[in-house]
Amino acid sequence: MRTVIHFDMDAFFASVEQLDAPELLGKPVLVGARSRRGVVTAASYEARPSGVRSAMSMVEALRRCPEAVVVPPRRSRYVELSRQVFSVFRRYTPLVEGLSVDEAFLDVSESRALFGDGETIARRVKRDIHEEIGLTGSAGVAPNKFVAKIASDLDKPDGLVLVPTDGAAKFLAPLPLERMWRVGPKARVRLRAAGFQTIGDLARADANTLEQLLGSWGPVARDLARGIDDRPVVVGAPPKSLGSEETFEDDLRTRDALLKPILRQSMRVADRLVDQGLWARVVTLKIKYRDHRIRSRQMKLPRAVSDTDAIFEAAGELLGRFDDLAYGVRLTGVAVSGITNAPGEELFPDAERERRERLAATSHVLRERFGTAGLTRASLIREPSVKRDSHT
Ligand SMILES: [Mg+2]
Repeated sequence: MRTVIHFDMDAFFASVEQLDAPELLGKPVLVGARSRRGVVTAASYEARPSGVRSAMSMVEALRRCPEAVVVPPRRSRYVELSRQVFSVFRRYTPLVEGLSVDEAFLDVSESRALFGDGETIARRVKRDIHEEIGLTGSAGVAPNKFVAKIASDLDKPDGLVLVPTDGAAKFLAPLPLERMWRVGPKARVRLRAAGFQTIGDLARADANTLEQLLGSWGPVARDLARGIDDRPVVVGAPPKSLGSEETFEDDLRTRDALLKPILRQSMRVADRLVDQGLWARVVTLKIKYRDHRIRSRQMKLPRAVSDTDAIFEAAGELLGRFDDLAYGVRLTGVAVSGITNAPGEELFPDAERERRERLAATSHVLRERFGTAGLTRASLIREPSVKRDSHT
């Protein structure tokens, strides 16, 4: 029998802010931009009794919880700690499937002989993360992914929920449909109208009824509701490349004009890397000229990165290798390749020092290019992402 652990850090971004600024401990903290269009990326547990949730607009969140402290997101810091969390996971099994920057499945079936049963391993992971990093996470231990993921969410924060090997169906039966994977609001309305209240009701339903209500997903849903899920934990084959590009309304002709979309594209690429817990070593800048000629330049970095600063720095340098920009550029694209989900620790001998050096260098570059007043990134019209970290 398999043992799968789903591990999810508690209010990850907000907890990192409280870790780094102890005066925030015990206070409601909202991570996100304090602008009219800002969105809550993460809310600390102190803010949640007021009804604040991630993905809520900042205006609404502050109306519900006016005493909350708003902190702008610090992506590179979250990535740094995510890396440490994942290296704890990999201490107990190589079979780690990252779902996001703070969430993963661990198949520990083969690790039991070495470290003890699923419960023991989950407790050790929680202890290591707490002692070494100072953060808490919640674990669900179960015979498969579906059940483990539901379990980890039931006792947050700092939770541990065990589902015995033969107890999956019994564990799921009393839970409301809202806990069910991939049952969206519309399907829920249909199911409720047909008299379904719990996951147990789904498990007992006949196949035809479910197929009528849920389409081809019906039979799968019934298996899951019965605690049957054979999907393996896969060490994600990361995508070969990730990119962001845009066509301009009017052709751009100067380096300064081009740096702005390139920074925006670098941010999008970095966000996608961070969201998927990935790093990349190669940066490519593509340019389409006014006459539709496409050219690209590529650079291999000394180490795998996932932050905007490093990607933008490389893209900016690559831009310098195109000479006839004045001819007119109708499109730029920033892409990364050489992607990995497990950068060797040896690649980061002193990550903190490197990060500071890089930040300093980039600030300098930005200041040079956009002027001192332009240093604030707010000027670059960053769209708030509603999706990001909706689990924390
Ligand atoms: Mg989380």
